[in-house]
Amino acid sequence: MSVRTAALHCPAELTFSGADDLTAIVTFTAASASSPGAVNTVTYDTATGAIHCDCAGAECGRDCWHIDHVAAADESPASVITAGFQ
Ligand SMILES: [Zn+2]
Repeated sequence: MSVRTAALHCPAELTFSGADDLTAIVTFTAASASSPGAVNTVTYDTATGAIHCDCAGAECGRDCWHIDHVAAADESPASVITAGFQ
């Protein structure tokens, strides 16, 4: 986890968007800080643990806080993740 980026944000900034029972993929969204009006989408494959984010930072290969917080939630019970960190 990137402590540098995660420390600037909280899990509540991620909004649970949906969970696909067939693919076991959970989706979160977060408003983009760099592009007002845009939304970043973070997908989490609960089967493999893979996390992908489409924000500008992640697309450039940087650590981003979206992935950091989803990864941190991965250490919580699955019910917490699917409930959107509640
Ligand atoms: Zn991101």
